[in-house]
Amino acid sequence: MARFGIHLSISGGFTNATSRAVELGCDCFQIFSRNPRTLRAKPIDRSEADAFRSAVAQARLKPVVIHVNYLVNVASPKDETYGKSVSALTDELSRAEILSADYLVLHPGNHLGSGAEAGCKRIARAIDRAYEDSGSSVMICLENMAGAGTEVGVSFAELRAICELSEHGESLGICFDTCHAYGAGYDVSTDRGLDRTLDELDSETGLNRVMFVHANDSKGQLGAARDRHEHIGKGLIGMAGFKAILGRKELRDLPFILETPVDSPDDQVRNLAALKAAAEEGS
Ligand SMILES: [Zn+2]
Ligand SMILES: [Zn+2]
Repeated sequence: MARFGIHLSISGGFTNATSRAVELGCDCFQIFSRNPRTLRAKPIDRSEADAFRSAVAQARLKPVVIHVNYLVNVASPKDETYGKSVSALTDELSRAEILSADYLVLHPGNHLGSGAEAGCKRIARAIDRAYEDSGSSVMICLENMAGAGTEVGVSFAELRAICELSEHGESLGICFDTCHAYGAGYDVSTDRGLDRTLDELDSETGLNRVMFVHANDSKGQLGAARDRHEHIGKGLIGMAGFKAILGRKELRDLPFILETPVDSPDDQVRNLAALKAAAEEGS
């Protein structure tokens, strides 16, 4: 049986996210470990981390996923941005370790015109340096991207290339984002499209690398390279698409984490219910 969760805010403290996860009936959840609008972060103090870990254990929330700050770009060809991004990724790995997170999810980055191949090399080296400098053992999961601008990690072949280039490649995971896949031209809204998508994913990275799914409907058209998340069932993937996704034996036992818009306070409740309904009807 799949496990369901939501990306939750840590504003007011890490344990606010765990309380909200329990309130919403989540099995798992995702957070940022720092303010997403800046690359600077104050260290996590031990009592804060202890309180978070015991709240997670008590509520049996698993997995705990941390999303890397959006400003990190480890594909950048610019040395200054790259240096800052590698330091930030190192810090993210340390914070994930302190919080006993299961996974740290990373957007591979933007190559800014240097090309996907050069980008993949920069990303792999950044991952290796961040593991060496942090000493952390938290698994980094590369997220597939929609293909906006110069994003790297849009095709599954690019995700494989990063794994192959990294010394830690054997132990890197994949986070499969349904909205990003749809934007990249992988039609996850139909059974036939899912057949092709999962076949390609399996032959490139191996399905066993997929640790969890970001369950997001899409406002953007198939292949439009747009990263615009929509409420479950209200976008172009639609309820039929999510039933098909949650009915797949390759995916249905994975954790599914929502990153859908929060326009009104009830949206999280509604999207979680829609996802659970799709799981029941899809199986
Ligand atoms: Zn993401
Ligand atoms: Zn995502």
